[in-house]
Amino acid sequence: MADEHRLVVVGGGIAGLDVATRLARRRTGGKRLSVTLVDREAAYVWKPILHTIAAGTSDAGMQETIYAAQARTRGFHFSYGEAVGIDRARREVQLAPVTADGEEIVPARTIGYDTLVLAVGSRANDFGTPGVAEHCASIDSRSGAVAFNDRLRHQLLKAIVAGSTLTVGIVGGGATGVELAAELIQVASVAEHFGIAAASDHLKVVLIESGPRLLGPFPERVSNAVRHKLEQLGVEIRTGTRVTAVEASGFTLDGGETVSAGLKVWAAGVKAPPLMDALADLERTRSVEVAVGQPVEVRVFSTAPR
Ligand SMILES: Cc1cc2nc3c(=O)[nH]c(=O)nc-3n(C[C@H](O)[C@H](O)[C@H](O)COP(=O)(O)OP(=O)(O)OC[C@H]3O[C@@H](n4cnc5c(N)ncnc54)[C@H](O)[C@@H]3O)c2cc1C
Repeated sequence: MADEHRLVVVGGGIAGLDVATRLARRRTGGKRLSVTLVDREAAYVWKPILHTIAAGTSDAGMQETIYAAQARTRGFHFSYGEAVGIDRARREVQLAPVTADGEEIVPARTIGYDTLVLAVGSRANDFGTPGVAEHCASIDSRSGAVAFNDRLRHQLLKAIVAGSTLTVGIVGGGATGVELAAELIQVASVAEHFGIAAASDHLKVVLIESGPRLLGPFPERVSNAVRHKLEQLGVEIRTGTRVTAVEASGFTLDGGETVSAGLKVWAAGVKAPPLMDALADLERTRSVEVAVGQPVEVRVFSTAPR
């Protein structure tokens, strides 16, 4: 419609959801803003708590904001689906079909825009390591964290019943890996409070980091304190250790040694999501992020409600 300006926000993380919420019901250049938020998930969860959902110490349903409900109350549109392409000449975002249990629920479609905001965040970077996609869980999305928790509960219960030990191997000693390791130890002691005797004896956590210390970007005294605390909790820590391949049974390390792990999590590094491949003609960083140092256009949105 000529009297409205179509703003499409792809990615409803903390950045995109806030943009859509704040700009809904605003005006720009004398036109009404029609704001559409696109996300491949149906609900938002604040990413920094995903390790607690993965471990099971918090519940996704209690922590989430349903996009459709937020859209209704705040006056924007929500489109559920994964953006797989951008036609910048036609100013259209292409969405993949939405499927569930192998059935197509919503067909592929396009959404036209006048202004496009890309807020698709990041995903774990496997640095091309063989076997990561097939054998490792990733906890950097709501659905990934929930799926990991399902497997964790089942595997831990199986180990307790069989009298064996479940080893969870985490690759990446950054914030995500460190927080998940600590949270997993917490899970076993919570299970004991619920009457599962000696659950801690059936869970082993191994944290593998290629750099010389955990939490590399932090000051050394923080890394040392974190390592000390995790070791006190019983986490086995392998720094200066690079994983070269992942198999169903565990990890192969640089030098050929193997580390067995029933559950494997990849939390090493970040890179841009695949949608960024649709922008291959723009300047991009080594992590495939679009370089945005120089704004090409500044658009002013009126803060007065329409
Ligand atoms: C376990 C964990 C702990 C963390 N802890 C901290 C912390 O303590 N402190 C801190 O500052 N940061 C932390 N971070 C990092 C922080 O969460 C991110 O920096 C922040 O979430 C980035 O926000 P964002 O909105 O840019 O992207 P995201 O939160 O990643 O949101 C991106 C959104 O885009 C959607 N999306 C992606 N691709 C598509 C597509 N093609 N089509 C449709 N939708 C798409 C995703 O579903 C998602 O909803 C942590 C991250 C993790 C994983």
